[in-house]
Amino acid sequence: MDILYLVLSYPYFAVAELQEKKEGFFMRCPFCNDEDTKVVDSRPADEQNAIRRRRECNVCGKRFTTYERLETFPMMVVKKDDTREPYSREKAEKGILLACHKRPVSAEQISGLLDELENYLFNLGDKEIPVTRIGEFIMTKLQDLDAVAYVRFASVYREFKDVDTFASEITKLLKKQ
Ligand SMILES: [Zn+2]
Repeated sequence: MDILYLVLSYPYFAVAELQEKKEGFFMRCPFCNDEDTKVVDSRPADEQNAIRRRRECNVCGKRFTTYERLETFPMMVVKKDDTREPYSREKAEKGILLACHKRPVSAEQISGLLDELENYLFNLGDKEIPVTRIGEFIMTKLQDLDAVAYVRFASVYREFKDVDTFASEITKLLKKQ
């Protein structure tokens, strides 16, 4: 057996690697079963969908390969009507892009926000996430980025039903600045 398949949690390889080091976890050698192994080479595989690591055992000196892949089952979002759908970065991005249309928010800031969102969701450790968690998180972040984008997002997300709710939200916002 030369290849071990590792299934890692969503979403980042880098997180997993850091975690491994922090927890003092080492991949066991498939030949002598010792934990004293090290990574000698890491490179992307399978069109960036996996990381291939060459590892070496410090005890018997043999080398083996591991592949780390994203976990394939999706994180489910529980919508307001209690139906579920897989989490979609594209969908979250679409909402943010609409709110940031013609606003001074860069593509980099938006992808940074999405990364932060996914880290946050990942750290919740739940397979099902209420859509409100996602909306509230994006709102908090947009508040720091651009007031107009924030109000646009909030008005769609909170479904402001009348001018009064909208006005009170603006007032709250102005007080904060
Ligand atoms: Zn060994």
